[in-house]
Amino acid sequence: MAVNIILPPSSLSLWHTKKLIYSTQIRFRIMSSASKSQPQSVASSAVYQVPGLDSHEMDSTADKTFERYSSNTAKRNGKGVSIVWFRNDLRVLDNEALFKAWVSSQAVLPVYCIDPRLFQTTYYFGFPKTGALRAQFIIECLADLKKKLMKKGLNLLIQHGKPEDILPSLAKAFGAHTVYAHKETCSEELQVERSVARGLRQVELSRAQGNSSRSSSTHSPKLQLIWGSTLYHLDDLPFSVGSLPDVYTQFRKSVEAKCTIRGCIRLPTSLGPPPSVDDWGIIPSVEQLGLHSEKVVKGMRFLGGETAALSRVTEYFWNKDLLKIYKETRNGMLGPDYSTKFSPWLASGSLSPRFIYEEVKRYEKERLANDSTYWVLFELIWRDYFRFISIKYGNSFFHLGGPRKVEKRWHQDQKLFETWRNGCTGYPLIDANMKELSASGFMSNRGRQIVCSFLVRDMGIDWRMGAEWFETCLLDYDPCSNYGNWTYGAGVGNDPREDRYFSIPKQAQTYDPDGEHVAFWVPELLTLPKERRNFPGKSYIEQVVPLKFGSSNKHHSQRSKYGGRHSGLRNR
Ligand code: FAD
Repeated sequence: MAVNIILPPSSLSLWHTKKLIYSTQIRFRIMSSASKSQPQSVASSAVYQVPGLDSHEMDSTADKTFERYSSNTAKRNGKGVSIVWFRNDLRVLDNEALFKAWVSSQAVLPVYCIDPRLFQTTYYFGFPKTGALRAQFIIECLADLKKKLMKKGLNLLIQHGKPEDILPSLAKAFGAHTVYAHKETCSEELQVERSVARGLRQVELSRAQGNSSRSSSTHSPKLQLIWGSTLYHLDDLPFSVGSLPDVYTQFRKSVEAKCTIRGCIRLPTSLGPPPSVDDWGIIPSVEQLGLHSEKVVKGMRFLGGETAALSRVTEYFWNKDLLKIYKETRNGMLGPDYSTKFSPWLASGSLSPRFIYEEVKRYEKERLANDSTYWVLFELIWRDYFRFISIKYGNSFFHLGGPRKVEKRWHQDQKLFETWRNGCTGYPLIDANMKELSASGFMSNRGRQIVCSFLVRDMGIDWRMGAEWFETCLLDYDPCSNYGNWTYGAGVGNDPREDRYFSIPKQAQTYDPDGEHVAFWVPELLTLPKERRNFPGKSYIEQVVPLKFGSSNKHHSQRSKYGGRHSGLRNR
C-alpha cells in the first residue's frame, strides 16, 4: 500500500553529518581525590567533542555493539501493520516498543512527530521550552535513529504536528492495529498520551484491516504503552508507587535487595520491510524549528544520537578506563572526563540505562569491580528514583511548595534573576557555571547544586525560575530529574531531610582550588594568581547579593551586614 504523507516545505534541508573541526585536544589528568579532580592545565578557550572519537571509530563501535546485541531467535507472529511512536526513546538497542511492534506485525512504521508545543514557552516564566542547543542535539538524535532504522531495513517517518493529530490519521491510512510507544510520567506527556488514545478510539478500521480477532465489523487501533526508561522496571518494584519511600536510601536499599534488573531487549538484525511510504519526510534544521542556531565555541560539544551514545560508553569505560576512578572524580567541573556525561543521551533515550548496567557488569568481570564501578549504578538509581517519585507526587513536583507543600517566602526579582542567568553575580563560581550552561547546554552535578543553592538560598528567588531556565538550556533536560533535583535544592522536595546550603567559598576551595574552572569560563580571571581566582575581590564585578552564611572572601572574612543566621540548614 502506498500512502501520501503531508510534508513540510520541500526546501527543508536534511541535517548532514558535518565533521566538526575542534581546536587542540586538551589532556586532562584525573587525580585521585575529589578535591584534586580538576585538570592540570586548561586552555581558556577550547571545544571538546563528547565523545572524542572520530566518525569512523564511532560507527565501528556502534556496529560491534549491535552485533553483540542482535538476536537470531526472535520470532515474528503478527499480522498487518503496527506503528512505533518514538518519543524520548530515540534508540534501537533495548527498545521494547520497537521489538513488540515487530513481533506483532508484518510491517512496522516508525514515526516521530515534531510537536510544536515543545518549541513554545515554559509554563510560568515564558522562557523558550527547548533551547537551540538541545534542539540541535535532538535533530542529531533523529538523523542517527533514521540511519540505524534504515540499516535494519526500516526508516523513520518524520511528521510535523501534534501526535494526537498525526497518529490516528496514520493508523487509519495504514490500517495499523496498534501504536506502540514508551510510557512517560509527567502531566504534559500524559496529556498527549490520553489525546492519542482518544484519537485512536475514533478511528474505525474494517475487520479486514489490522489483526483484530473481534467479531464486530469494525475496530479501532490501540495505543500500547511500554515502560522502558529506567534501570529497574516499574512492574518489578517491591512496593506500589503510592507507597514509594520518601527517603532515597530506603528506596535504593530496597530495590537493590529485592529486584533484579531485566536484560536488554535484543532485536533481530533485520526489522523490515516497512510499509510503502511515498515520502518519509525531512528532519528540520534548528531554524526551521523557529530557533536561532547556536554553535558551541567553548566547552563540551555533545554529539546527539545512539552511535555517539554507545561510543561514549566505550570511550569512558573501555578506551580511557575512567570507570574505575569515577567515584573520586565525579565531583569535578571541567572537561569531559570527570564523569560519564551519559545524561544527554539518557534523557533523549538514545542510551538505555540497562545497557549501561550490562556494560558495568562486563567491565567488573573483565577489568575490575570497586566502589567506582558500583557508584555509576548508584547515581542511575537516583535517576530511577526521581522518575518513580514523579508518578507518586504528580504535578506537585512543579508547584512552588513542592511535594511537601512547604510555605516559604520567595521573590521573583527579574533583575537579580538575570544576573544569575547571565553569569554576572560577582561570584566567579556561579558566573562560570551559568556561562557554561548557556554556552554548552551542560553543567556538572556539583555546579548545578551550587547555582541552585545560590539562587534559592542566597538570592531568595522563586526556585521555579531557575528550574525553568534549566529546562530551556540543558541538553539532558528531563522533567523528573530536573524538577526532582530543584525541589530538593529548594528544600521543598519529598524528603524533608534534604535541605542543604552550599557555601560558595567552601565549594570553591574544595572543588576548584586552583580556579581552573572559573578561569576557563571567565577568562579575565586568568591573570590572577590561582588562589585568588575564586576570591578576586575588587578585581572582578561587584557582588549582587551578600552570602547568607559568611563572606566569599577567604582572606578577609567579614560578617555580612545582612547577617548570617544559621537556620538549621546543612552547610556544605
Ligand atoms: P554522572 O555523574 O556520570 O552520573 C551518571 C548518571 O546518573 C547521569 O547521567 C544521570 O543519568 C544519573 N544521575 C546522576 N546524578 C543524578 C541526580 N542527582 N539526579 C538524577 N540523576 C542523576 N539530570 C538530568 O539528567 N536531567 C536534568 O534535567 C537534571 N537537572 C538537574 C537539576 C539540578 C538543580 C541538579 C542539582 C541536578 C540535575 N540533574 C539532572 C542531575 C545531574 O546533575 C546530572 O544527571 C549529571 O550532572 C549529568 O552528568 P553525568 O552524566 O556526567 O553524570
